[in-house]
Amino acid sequence: MNGTTGTDEAVAGRGRVVVVTGAGTGIGRATAWAFAEQDPRARVVAVGRRAEPLVGTAERAAGRIVPLVADVTAPDGPAAVVRAALERFGRLDVLVNNAGIAPHATLGGYTPEGIGTLLATNLTAPVLLTQAALPALTDSRGVVVNVSTAVGLRGWPGNSVYAASKAAVDTLTRSWAVELAPRGIRVVAVAPGAIETPIADHAGIGPEQRAALRAWQLAHTPLGRIGEAAEVAWAVTQLAAPQASFVTGVVLPVDGGAVVG
Ligand code: NAD
Repeated sequence: MNGTTGTDEAVAGRGRVVVVTGAGTGIGRATAWAFAEQDPRARVVAVGRRAEPLVGTAERAAGRIVPLVADVTAPDGPAAVVRAALERFGRLDVLVNNAGIAPHATLGGYTPEGIGTLLATNLTAPVLLTQAALPALTDSRGVVVNVSTAVGLRGWPGNSVYAASKAAVDTLTRSWAVELAPRGIRVVAVAPGAIETPIADHAGIGPEQRAALRAWQLAHTPLGRIGEAAEVAWAVTQLAAPQASFVTGVVLPVDGGAVVG
C-alpha cells in the first residue's frame, strides 16, 4: 500500500486497524482507548476536526493511537480518512462512525441550514465514509460500528431531527448488514442513552435547559444515573470483536434501560 512503512505493516499485520471518528472527546475518545487496551497489537486512527483533543487521545497509547485531523463532512473528508489509514497501516478492519452533533431545537426553531449541517454530520458522513472504506473492509472482512442513540428508537421532544437522523442510522445498520454480508462485513450499532460527555456544550442550550434535560434523562433512565463514555466504548469493542462473528444488523441499547423504561 502506498506510503506504508515496513514497520507499521509488520505490526498491523498481527493486530486490527480501527478508525474512530469524533475521537477527540467523549465516546469516541473512550472507544479509541478501549480498542488500544483490548489488544496491544491494535492500531487506532483517531479522527476529528481539531488536533489538540486528538493528541490528548493519542497520548494514552502513543504510537498505537494515531491522531488524524479531518472533517468527515468535507468533500474529500471520507476518502482522506481511509487513505490515511491505509497509507499508515496498510489495512482497515473496524470503522466506528461515532462523530455526531446534537443541536437542540423544537420544530419551530429549525432552519434549512441547521438541518443540513445536522444531517451532513450524523447521516451523510457515515454513509460516505463507509462507502469509501468498502474496498478495504471487503479485503479484511471487517466490521462497521455505527453510534446511534436510544432516542432514535423512541423519539426526543425538542430534538426531533437529531432523533430522526439517528433512527436513519439504525436503518442503515440493518440495511447494510444484509447488503454487505456476502462480503463478510458485519454491521452493528450501539444506541447510547444519556452519557456524560461534552456533547451538550455545543447544543445551543443554556444552563436551565441543560438542567431540565438532565432531569428528563434521569427520569427516563431506569438505572437512575447518567452513563460513562467507557461503558459505551466497552459495548463497541465487544460488538466489533472477532468473537462476535455471528452478530450483525443489531442495534444494541447501552442506556440504563431507557428504551424499555
Ligand atoms: P462529543 O461532542 O464529545 O463527541 C462528538 C465528536 O464528534 C466531537 O469530538 C466532535 O468534534 C466530533 N465531530 C463532530 N462533527 C465532526 C466532523 N464533521 N468531523 C469530525 N469530527 C466531528 O459527544 P459524544 O456524546 O461523545 O458523541 C459521540 C456520539 O455519541 C455522537 O454520534 C452522539 O450523537 C452519540 N450519542 C451521545 C449521547 C450522549 O448522551 N452523550 C447519547 C446518545 C448518542
